[in-house]
Order: sequence, then structure tokens, then C-alpha cells
Amino acid sequence: MAISPMGVVPPPAHSWRPRVAPEPAGVDLSAAEDAARTLLTALGCPVDREAMAETPRRMVSAFAELLAPRSFDLTTFPNDERYDELVLARSIPVQSLCEHHMLPFVGVAHVGYLPGERIVGLSKLARVVELFARRPQVQERLTKQIADWLRENLDPQGVGVVIEAEHSCMTLRGVRAVGATTVTSTLLGAMRSDSRSRAEFLALTTGPPNGQGVRRG
Ligand SMILES: [Zn+2]
Repeated sequence: MAISPMGVVPPPAHSWRPRVAPEPAGVDLSAAEDAARTLLTALGCPVDREAMAETPRRMVSAFAELLAPRSFDLTTFPNDERYDELVLARSIPVQSLCEHHMLPFVGVAHVGYLPGERIVGLSKLARVVELFARRPQVQERLTKQIADWLRENLDPQGVGVVIEAEHSCMTLRGVRAVGATTVTSTLLGAMRSDSRSRAEFLALTTGPPNGQGVRRG
């Protein structure tokens, strides 16, 4: 059975430890390097100068890295203690590329869940963020994909994801709104329907209770 970012093989319950591997992206580094050289030349950048001779290769290598999440094992454990309160990993770094400009947006993600039958190693929450961040993205979709993936693969009582990020396509160009951040959130299951859980999660992740400027997905 195929393993992709959108779904993992459900193995026996006692050894639920699927390997999550990114889909092969079909990267052609040499074609990309040629294209980068052409692009930089067309933009008037002197790639024939010695200092920039290696720039197309470095540029391609940097983009390739930003588009390649690492594989990981989704290690989960039985929730033997029947813990049913919020589990929250705050300030997970987010580095992604806006799909409209292919410029980085960077910030933090807060990922929380209300456990069901299983709990997950906390470092895996950061890997799930990376899994969906390292591709051409928009922040709204990134937020929702992380939440949906955790709902499907961990089957918790509820999931909440908040991302706050600064988009360089907005700060370095266009309106040049330096310092402006965008906040997005997705709440699923009891994290959405139970007012106490929702309030606790949002208080711990979005600051002032009025949540001004928060876009809910
Ligand atoms: Zn953009």
C-alpha cells in the first residue's frame, strides 16, 4: 500500500508506527539550474561574474531543500492513563513558500489535540508541520492540512492548529508591510464544539481573547 502525506498504512494496533514519506517530487536539479541561470540572466543579474557563477546551483539547492520534507515514523502510544486534557506543542517553527510568489513565509505553529485512544510523540507534531510546509503553500491551506492529517491519523477527540507567520511577499515587496503577521486557525471535533476546550486552546495560542485578525478555517 502506498504511503503518502495524505494517508498512512493502518498496521496492527500494537505496533502502529507507520513511516510517513513525502511523495517523490520528480525534481530535476540540472534542468532547474539551467532555468535559474536563464532567469537570473533575464533579470539582469551578472551570473557570468565569478562571484555569482555558482549562484544558480545554490539557488536551486535552496529551493529544493525548502520543498523537501523529511520522512518520519509516526510514533504513537496507547493512552493508558486515559488523559483527556489538551496536549499542546507551541511555537513550532514554520518555514514555507508562498505558492503565489515562491517567496518564504516564516513563523510559528501551535498544534494541540485532545487525546482519544492514542497519544503521539510531541516531536512528531513538528514533523507533521514540516510535512505540509515544505511545498508551495498558502497559510490557510497549510493550517487545515495539518489539522485534517492529525484527525485522520491520530483519531483524537479534537484538534487545533494556529499559525502566525510573516510573508516576505507582503513585507519585502508590494505593500512592504514590515512586521505584519497573518494568523490562521483550524479547530476540529471537540476543540471546536466544546466551548471550554476551544477557549483554553485559543487563550494559550492567540493571545487576547477577542482574537482580532484571526481567520478561522
Ligand atoms: Zn505571496
